[in-house]
Amino acid sequence: AKAVIPIENLDSFAVKSFPLCMRQLHEQLRVAHHLRHGGRLQYGLFLKGIGVTLEDSLRFWREEFTKLMDLDKFEKQYAYNVRYNYGKEGSKKNYSPFSCLKIINTTVGPGDCHGCPYKHCDVGILKNRLQGYGFDTQAIGEIIDITKKGHFQVACSKYFDAVHHSDLGLGINHPNQYFEESQKIAK
Ligand code: SF4
Repeated sequence: AKAVIPIENLDSFAVKSFPLCMRQLHEQLRVAHHLRHGGRLQYGLFLKGIGVTLEDSLRFWREEFTKLMDLDKFEKQYAYNVRYNYGKEGSKKNYSPFSCLKIINTTVGPGDCHGCPYKHCDVGILKNRLQGYGFDTQAIGEIIDITKKGHFQVACSKYFDAVHHSDLGLGINHPNQYFEESQKIAK
């Protein structure tokens, strides 16, 4: 059975074990206390995939969203979607977390934070963000060069190595695979 991931650990996991697509959604949620639909879906399914329980997911989203809205509004408009992601509402389908291919090919509009940052972020903004995270200049240069060439998943793999101080050059094809590879190193 998969380990249950406590939501109290998500801030630390976002830094150490999430790919950038999920780290940016997590950080945006913490800052804005809200995510738009595409972000809730992409991040919500990822959280389910890493082992966050439905009860914890509800608590996690509720705690953030109710910093800016009534509990009543959250329960009426948003709790349904959290349960839906876990197959507890609507068609009760067991939705799978999105693969890199699906995320890279998703449509991202202005104000959206989902998608793949290597594909969807402005390169200058991406570079600033990586600098803000404190990566060294060489690692940032490599990630940006590869991003510009359109090799988004290779850029993601370089980011993995920068975070873990490793030189694995993993093939990344799924955000949840990224997380599992990171957990292997942590153990
Ligand atoms: Fe996320 Fe995949 Fe893009 Fe990496 S390559 S940031 S895991 S969508």
